[in-house]
Amino acid sequence: MKAFENMEVWFVTGAQLLYGGDAVVKVDAHSTEMVDGMNKSGLLPVKVVYKGTANSSKEVSDVMKAAENDRRCIGVITWMHTFSPAKMWIHGMQELRKPLLHLHTQFNKEIPWETMDMDFMNLNQSAHGDREFGHLLTRMRKNRKMVVGHWQDPKTLGHIAVWERVAAAWADAQDMLILRFGDQMNNVAVTDGDKVEAEVRLGYHVDYTPVSELMEYFKRIGDEEVDRLVQTYFAEYDHDAALEDRTTEAYQKIWNAAKAELTLRACLTDKGAKGFTTNFDDLGEFDQIPGLASQRLMAEGYGFGAEGDWKSAALSRTVWFMGQGLPGGCSFLEDYTLHFNGEQSAILQAHMLEVSPLIAEKRPRLEVHFLGIGIRKTPTARLVFTSKPAAGITATIVDLGNRFRLIVNAVDCIPSKPLPKLPVASALWIPQPNFEVGAGAWILAGGTHHSCFSYDLTEEYWEDYAEIAGIEALFIDKDTTLREFKREMRVNEVYYLLNKALC
Ligand code: MN
Repeated sequence: MKAFENMEVWFVTGAQLLYGGDAVVKVDAHSTEMVDGMNKSGLLPVKVVYKGTANSSKEVSDVMKAAENDRRCIGVITWMHTFSPAKMWIHGMQELRKPLLHLHTQFNKEIPWETMDMDFMNLNQSAHGDREFGHLLTRMRKNRKMVVGHWQDPKTLGHIAVWERVAAAWADAQDMLILRFGDQMNNVAVTDGDKVEAEVRLGYHVDYTPVSELMEYFKRIGDEEVDRLVQTYFAEYDHDAALEDRTTEAYQKIWNAAKAELTLRACLTDKGAKGFTTNFDDLGEFDQIPGLASQRLMAEGYGFGAEGDWKSAALSRTVWFMGQGLPGGCSFLEDYTLHFNGEQSAILQAHMLEVSPLIAEKRPRLEVHFLGIGIRKTPTARLVFTSKPAAGITATIVDLGNRFRLIVNAVDCIPSKPLPKLPVASALWIPQPNFEVGAGAWILAGGTHHSCFSYDLTEEYWEDYAEIAGIEALFIDKDTTLREFKREMRVNEVYYLLNKALC
């Protein structure tokens, strides 16, 4: 199925009947032409559906209620073609909880200097109509994305496209189920948090699934199915020919890893889950950490968090969802170890095993090596690769006790080297603006050692996400200084305390 195929964004045009029915007929025709043009541009991942003009408080309320009730609708774009007195938008805006984009545009691109008359003016009034509407939204403290530009300009459409992807991922998160196989890694603070508040604020639901329950699926996996999956591995990945020798321990390890993958997928499918966490101390009958399974399930779009990190599992699903169809790829990653080298100082990103092959530079290599961590210290199957040298962005959400904080860091992935004695998948990046400030700001913000990385997303995606979720967002990029960053965090501390008191 094509990404976003079952989703729609609704387009509602503000007008009023003051200028007579003829004006509204023209507004309607213009809006139809605009929405057609936007859809035909090929630049918008989610189809825009024109829902007509809204000319009264009742019409606005009706269309917003309908938007709320329609499962396909993931958000609403509003535009005031004529002056649309904003009091008529109050009740409708109270109804709308889905993402809102206010588009400040105009049907006509340029002023028709020679022919412009009062009829033209009565029609092309977004210059003040959108200000009236914007005032009300600000007065109501209504979160929205503001996009300004001509509706045919690819730049304008690019901003709408970003918001569409974020709104789609937001919709996806509202019925997202994350399964925790085993609990949080004992004593770890940063990966834990308030699951009730996460469901209230961010939409997703997190359930504990005992490993004993997962083992019920394990028992039902047939040998032939496992054999077939092992052959898929050999077809998809580079590997030593010796691995195909069925009499070896290495082959048995790959076979067991394939059975673990089928077990996890069966359980996730059965329960309708979109992501999961594992815990390397709680493995049931798995003979090894199901790292290869986690790698492949991530590549399919399942969110993943290691050591019970359910926030990363949910956010990595969201990152994958937003980036569907884009060329770069994404993965759950962990700050592994540091490489001090002056201006090129960098952080190696890896995990015991669980890095998505979507970010691989070349075809991943299937290997089996001893892994000496957790309750199964044994040879373990995994995909080994280095990642593409390119710019990207990484993000995490932490629970500060009184709120969730999104932390975003623009990073530059640089060429990495193989690790013959630690054969795992990895990336190597320099956080912006440089290692010293980037890592310093992240740590001061309380950021995790786990994060959700993407080559495709930009800061704009995360701005839109934070706006829709209504959570704090901190950006670490080329403009960051630690002095300003600390000031921003202190100001935010007061803002969120007051905001909580006002709500
Ligand atoms: Mn970890």
